[in-house]
Amino acid sequence: MTTETDLRHLRRCVELATEALDAHDDPFGSLLVGPEGTVLKEDRNRISSGDHTRHPEFALARWAADHLSPDERARSTVYTSGEHCPMCAAAHGWVGLGRIVYAASSAQLAGWLAEWGVPQAPVATLPITDVVPGAVTDGPAPELVEAVRALHRRRRMGHAGGGPGNGGT
Ligand code: ZN
Repeated sequence: MTTETDLRHLRRCVELATEALDAHDDPFGSLLVGPEGTVLKEDRNRISSGDHTRHPEFALARWAADHLSPDERARSTVYTSGEHCPMCAAAHGWVGLGRIVYAASSAQLAGWLAEWGVPQAPVATLPITDVVPGAVTDGPAPELVEAVRALHRRRRMGHAGGGPGNGGT
């Protein structure tokens, strides 16, 4: 069940995903929110570096391992524009972070890629709880799914310098 506070954090994740897209990275953004509700760290996808493990959820898990006690990690929440991939879910589980809230699910993303006829991710599409059975997750957030879909569509289908009404489909 997502709350107004959850939605506010998820909207920031979508903003970070937009920043990533504008920087030629994949459109994913994430926040780490501490036990008191403070945003401790935010990050976005950075794969245009050539390192395809530069996912924000992975970066936040490692940051949390370096900066938070096990108890603080367990009581922290990770917000993200797209559900964790198996790599990031594993990192989340290994460092013992708490609840995850995502705007769009991995299954939704896989469905969009299939619909657009573009390649799927090279790593299996699995729900977080298949990788971390004890994880507490909330999502997708119907209010934001369309915004996330639009970002992925821009990334995969492209609008090479064109604006609306440019003849693209
Ligand atoms: Zn990932």
